[in-house]
Amino acid sequence: MPKYIVVAGGVMSGVGKGVTTASIGKILQEHGYNVTAIKIDPYLNYDAGTLRPTEHGEVWVTDDGGEIDQDLGTYERFLNKDIPKRNNITTGQVYKTVIDRERQGEYLGQTVQFIPHIPDEIKKRIKAASNSNDFVLVEVGGTIGDYENIPFLFALKSLEREVGKQNLSYVLVTYLPIPSHIEEMKTKPTQQAIRLLSESGIFPDFIICRAKKALDVVRKKKIETYANIISDHVISEPDIETVYQIPLDLEKEKLGEKILKEFGMKPKKQPEWHEWKKLVENILNPKKTIKVAIVGKYIDIGDYNLADSYISINQSLLHAGASLNTGVEIEWLDSKIFEENRKSASELKKYDGIIVPGGFGASGVEGKINAVNYARTNKIPYLGLCYGLQLAVVEFARNVCNLKDAHTTEVNPKTSAPVIDVQPAQREILEKHMFGGTMRLGAYAAVLRDKSKVLKLYGEAGRLSEDEKRIQEIMKDKSQAFRLGILEKGKKIVLERHRHRYEVNPSFVDLLEKNGLVFSGCYMRADKTKLMEYIELPNHPYFISTQAHPEFKSRLGNPSPLFYGFVKNCIK
Ligand code: GLN
Repeated sequence: MPKYIVVAGGVMSGVGKGVTTASIGKILQEHGYNVTAIKIDPYLNYDAGTLRPTEHGEVWVTDDGGEIDQDLGTYERFLNKDIPKRNNITTGQVYKTVIDRERQGEYLGQTVQFIPHIPDEIKKRIKAASNSNDFVLVEVGGTIGDYENIPFLFALKSLEREVGKQNLSYVLVTYLPIPSHIEEMKTKPTQQAIRLLSESGIFPDFIICRAKKALDVVRKKKIETYANIISDHVISEPDIETVYQIPLDLEKEKLGEKILKEFGMKPKKQPEWHEWKKLVENILNPKKTIKVAIVGKYIDIGDYNLADSYISINQSLLHAGASLNTGVEIEWLDSKIFEENRKSASELKKYDGIIVPGGFGASGVEGKINAVNYARTNKIPYLGLCYGLQLAVVEFARNVCNLKDAHTTEVNPKTSAPVIDVQPAQREILEKHMFGGTMRLGAYAAVLRDKSKVLKLYGEAGRLSEDEKRIQEIMKDKSQAFRLGILEKGKKIVLERHRHRYEVNPSFVDLLEKNGLVFSGCYMRADKTKLMEYIELPNHPYFISTQAHPEFKSRLGNPSPLFYGFVKNCIK
């Protein structure tokens, strides 16, 4: 049976409960244990697919095609492992399952009620997601005291009774404000959070105190006494410069040993923080710094949420930079500024590299295309992600193949050269207005072209053998096997995650290739349609784009090959 660690948040949201959960996981991994993490989202949405990223942060995509809250991304980046969609549990999923079951007559005349049916379904989902791990972290979204997380706390208390207290621990992550007019750290909100939690019959075993500064002894003692907690189980987690410092800071307080002791366990191995420390040191004090422009559509975004809506790209650049001992300064440029004329794109010359990220719709598209044009013709490193590949193809078709009217049908359905288009099978679904099912979601296999730059990048990063193992796993799972399509024997294959509707139109591939665009990888669907996954230009220092979102597979110490190659070329 796994050991469960429930992480709940007190006082307010946004204090870093997700990274704290991920950090505890990382610490336990370093002590030799298998760890997974579950995120509970108490909202009624079935998943995050329909949430506005500017409000809620980026939509995270899992290998198995889940559209999830970004905390799952944090877990993957810290734990360096793939986490499936069932590790995200929402109120919507729980109620839908119970109600569907009721409609199918599975409750046989019973009155279906909040208790026991809802907590039972929650527990079932937690157990299913636990798999064969030694430790399962369960992060409860929101803040203690929210009406919405009551069912989950109830379910967790019930899980505690089932598995025994010796197999389940509670961690409360709180925040200690320092009001500027008194300059004194206040423990009262934390005390209130402890009390609120106790109303659900839950008493924390550990309290992690987020604050601007480290806690002093007086305040630690005060919280210890109030919470009636074992001495030294109040842990200080002050503000830091990079989230990757958190496991190191928590380890200074010997959190790993303390948690293991709480469960009556011993470390299986001595933690080795050397590599991690070096990467953190590189993030904090890089030898050099490069400047990258990310050209996208940033309407409706204030100053605050921008980085969050593109957190994975941000993190991918950070990871690549850390491995190359280079800081990456990101500037978010609204593509509209490059809209009027191509000349305005010359502003891009002050950057070492240009990225066009994923996106939807017509807004700012011509500006993005102009930015791609500038990168291509001025030989500035360019990385196109999803929409960034599609628009690079449009740019190439217009300016190299001389198809002046070329476009994606997403923006111009009447174009005479639909180089990016919806594939027939998908169009049928779209016409029936079944928008939910029309995206290509999750990991798909790409057969890479021999001798291509893309193949070289994946090879050098060790991803070919890593993905080979994952391919074997997917082959065993009938419901997921479609992700592999037809695999050409003897070819090198990689897996990346997707989230899009449109594809490079197969009927233009020959023409584009004749003009010098190299398609360096494709997914072959069971019906033998080839969907293009990568493009590259041979006579350019770094002009690489992918239909996928490689930013979902980048981890500290294991950066995404395309980002690594991009940053490396920006340094040059
Ligand atoms: N809008 C494009 C499509 O749906 C690209 C999507 C994306 O960049 N994620 O195909």
